[in-house]
Amino acid sequence: MSHALEDIQDLEGVGPVTANKLKEAGFDSVEAIAVAPIRELVDKAGLESSAAIKIVRAARQIIHVDLITAKQLYDRRQSLLRLSTGSENLNKLLGGGLETQAITEFIGEFGSGKTQLCMKFCITAQLPLQQGGLNGKVLFLDSEGTFAPQRVYQIAQAMSLDPDKMLEGVFIARVYNSDHQILTVDHAFKLCQEENIKLIVVDSVLSHFRSEYIGRENLSERQQKLNAHLHKLTRIAQALNLVIVLTNQVQANPQAFFGDPTRPAGGNILAHASTHRIMLKKASNNLRCARIIDSPCLPESETYFAITEKGIEDAQPKPRRGD
Ligand code: ADP
Ligand code: MG
Repeated sequence: MSHALEDIQDLEGVGPVTANKLKEAGFDSVEAIAVAPIRELVDKAGLESSAAIKIVRAARQIIHVDLITAKQLYDRRQSLLRLSTGSENLNKLLGGGLETQAITEFIGEFGSGKTQLCMKFCITAQLPLQQGGLNGKVLFLDSEGTFAPQRVYQIAQAMSLDPDKMLEGVFIARVYNSDHQILTVDHAFKLCQEENIKLIVVDSVLSHFRSEYIGRENLSERQQKLNAHLHKLTRIAQALNLVIVLTNQVQANPQAFFGDPTRPAGGNILAHASTHRIMLKKASNNLRCARIIDSPCLPESETYFAITEKGIEDAQPKPRRGD
């Protein structure tokens, strides 16, 4: 993209003062401005709405995001890449791996393997395309403080890769509250572009939101903020052709008389933002079961994997006696 590094000060209507305001709010490239809702430039960068409209229009003219032809849409789909999870079973379940330009959400209770998967992806993302990777770096937003560099080191070693090099390729943002998490994503665009980041992990996406917005009276504010946050992630994924992985907890489902007594946290907002949702469960023999839930194009099916020295590996549950 030739316009990628164009300075925002070159846009009509952006002087040094406005450029500063925009940069401080995370709108530090023409792309980031072109895909931003005008209200965000007003709310976050403190611009007058007439100025915001003018600037967004100027950015969109450079990037041509207003109208695209079906051919362009088709080409964009063609440029979609797949990131290997490290498990053939899981890749197959996902229709070939984790998709760029989309959000994939892994849901499960404590210990179901969410963080283990994310750490494995930190390595597969850095592999060359021919090996199922994206030949890029990783941005890891850790909201629970559970990212373990020594574990990434171990996985890299077990895969006969250079562990130091793999660790160098992962940027960790330990996020301490939901505003911090939102701000980190607001500022991610430029970092992703400059550092060739091809995977963003948010582990876990909701924990801060859930602990900070307690009670029914705060739910709508929480969902509004979450919605804007998820949209920003989607826009980065589409503009930069990268993979977004979110993890999420389960909550009790009081409506369930039969079947699963839990459901993903986050309600409709998260359900709509995630393109693919995978439920993880502990299974016998220390295996993990992964099951697709409400995907627009993938069949509901399930598969198994094991958490091992190499991160994760394919596994089959042993048939029970009498089967
Ligand atoms: P979640 O993020 O869903 O709460 P984790 O991804 O932290 O869960 O998974 C924790 C599980 O991973 C534990 O059951 C632990 O035994 C297993 N685990 C962690 N490291 C290893 C390892 N090196 N080899 C095998 N299993 C491991
Ligand atoms: Mg975890």
